[in-house]
Amino acid sequence: MKILFIEDNDADADFLRASLKSSCAEELDLTHVSTLKDGVIALSENDFDVLLLDVGLPDGEGMECIEVVQSVDPDMPIVVLSGHGDEDFAVSIINKGVQDYLVKQETKGRVILRAIRYAIERKRSERRLNYFAQYDGLTGIPNREFLTGYLDSAITRAEREKNKVALFYLDLDKFKTLNAQLGHEIGDVLLKEVAQRLYSHTRAGDLLCRAGGDEFAVVVEGLTQVAEIESIARKLINSLNDTFLINGREIVASASVGVTVYPDDSKDAQVLLKNADIAMYQAKEAGQNKFKYFTDNIHDEIVRKHKLEEDIQTALRLKQFALVYQSKVDIHTLQVKGMEALIRWNCPTRGLVRPADFIGAAEKSGYIVPLGYWIINDVCQTINNWKCKNIKLVPVSINVSALQFQQADFADRVGEILESHNIDPELIELEMTEGLLMADTDATQKCLTSLKAIGIKISVDDFGTGNSCLAYLQKFPIDILKIDKSFVDDVTLNADSDHICKAIISLAKSLGLEAVAEGVETKRQLEFLRENDCNIVQGYLFGRPVWGKEIANLFENVKHETVLVKSSQATNAQILNMDTEFLT
Ligand code: C2E
Ligand code: CA
Ligand code: CA
Repeated sequence: MKILFIEDNDADADFLRASLKSSCAEELDLTHVSTLKDGVIALSENDFDVLLLDVGLPDGEGMECIEVVQSVDPDMPIVVLSGHGDEDFAVSIINKGVQDYLVKQETKGRVILRAIRYAIERKRSERRLNYFAQYDGLTGIPNREFLTGYLDSAITRAEREKNKVALFYLDLDKFKTLNAQLGHEIGDVLLKEVAQRLYSHTRAGDLLCRAGGDEFAVVVEGLTQVAEIESIARKLINSLNDTFLINGREIVASASVGVTVYPDDSKDAQVLLKNADIAMYQAKEAGQNKFKYFTDNIHDEIVRKHKLEEDIQTALRLKQFALVYQSKVDIHTLQVKGMEALIRWNCPTRGLVRPADFIGAAEKSGYIVPLGYWIINDVCQTINNWKCKNIKLVPVSINVSALQFQQADFADRVGEILESHNIDPELIELEMTEGLLMADTDATQKCLTSLKAIGIKISVDDFGTGNSCLAYLQKFPIDILKIDKSFVDDVTLNADSDHICKAIISLAKSLGLEAVAEGVETKRQLEFLRENDCNIVQGYLFGRPVWGKEIANLFENVKHETVLVKSSQATNAQILNMDTEFLT
């Protein structure tokens, strides 16, 4: 054990040396110096295990001595030896980071030795704790705690040197899914390897740290041009391009990166951290494996979205949602064969809001799930209302979002709602998009089969716009194909659209499904669809969506009859008036 003893009193030094020798079997290497100055030299030139320090020296007194030696070697375990037992002083130096305090006259060799051993041990665990407080146990790189402190000092340096600091915030795409599918152990190995990849793509002087979970941050100092930032971001993203080989499995990983710059975006470390996080989320929304700069627009956008989600929650509570119904008519007889329920939001501050402006937010926040059940309930009530008014009932189709459909008990809950309202399941159709149907084939198959067993019809909405995979049409119990409005828009004007519409109609025919064309606005479109044998048409030509209660009025004079809407009656004031508020 190598001990440095800084003590100006030679007699005290000799006494200590003798008592230590007598009580220690192990070889002790004791270096004694008499001044703080010599102590500093000895400390910087040698490797000692511990420092015994007298705090009454000719060139230093009390706390000052401690500060000086700590500035030379902050990791050195220190035991202070003092001529007097001053409790307050003892407490203050322990707070300063000294490991122990002994009063010279009271110390025997054994006591000092024990104090020395404890001091070394205590310093070691302190260092370890400090390490863990600042470093990530899994990857070994600095953690968020370290990042915050580091960013502060990087800002100070940049301020002095008049240059920029870029903060990159990375988040692995789909890490949660991967973790759930492959297990946490593989997830952990992936995080370690990602840390290594990123590390090998940062330059000396850049800081890489794990900001938490699957998030990493990189701080790059000394930038003079914003142009350099883009290439760094690309480098970070590309560093993950090669697949990872973990436990014999090939794993593909990618990251979304948000970037913010000192002093352009903010001069405050905390604000920069928030900005980078916000920008990262934007990058994710833009489709993963991308990077985005922080901008004030992004910030406003986030605030706006957040407010929208809050308002949706309030709207659910205060029942500000309502449904409108648009008729679907038989292409030959023009008799109403069905209705599509479409949501509207009557917001006191925003006015009447169309689904395009809030369904996305409701899906992202998850509110679409309760909203979806509310919609089904409301449709059931409306159907019962029509029943009371003796109106001939036609099936009502309801739009379903992916998140609703992904609820494990979706089919059961729908069944329960219909039962509780005593609604014939034949009167309900669910409209789903292709993407939704193809996402998870096993779960989809199960859910569709259950819905089918209840007696509910399934319609594929916006057909032709997705990544159509025709195999699922045969596999799943589907009843209806809805030709997307974008194709209907262009028929007779664009040969491609003509072909697509014809193809969808004949596909439906060959699979025994019903073909519905949506968004029919002109007579020409209607004629084309009729010539090509489409079954059902829907669109402004036959009527705009109307409030549920107004449908009852509409049917009032034609009890027991379906409404006959001739295409020439498209301007029928009664029909048009109902949805003029929704005109785009
Ligand atoms: P979608 O299911 O494709 O609904 C058809 C949309 O086209 C409706 O807009 C309808 O009002 C409009 N439309 C119908 N005929 C015509 C026409 O001839 N010309 C034009 N220009 N438009 C026509 P809306 O009501 O704004 O709904 C937009 C989308 O919002 C829907 O598209 C659907 O994806 C979603 N959505 C609407 N209601 C619900 C709902 O209750 N639940 C869910 N999950 N989504 C809904
Ligand atoms: Ca629809
Ligand atoms: Ca549609």
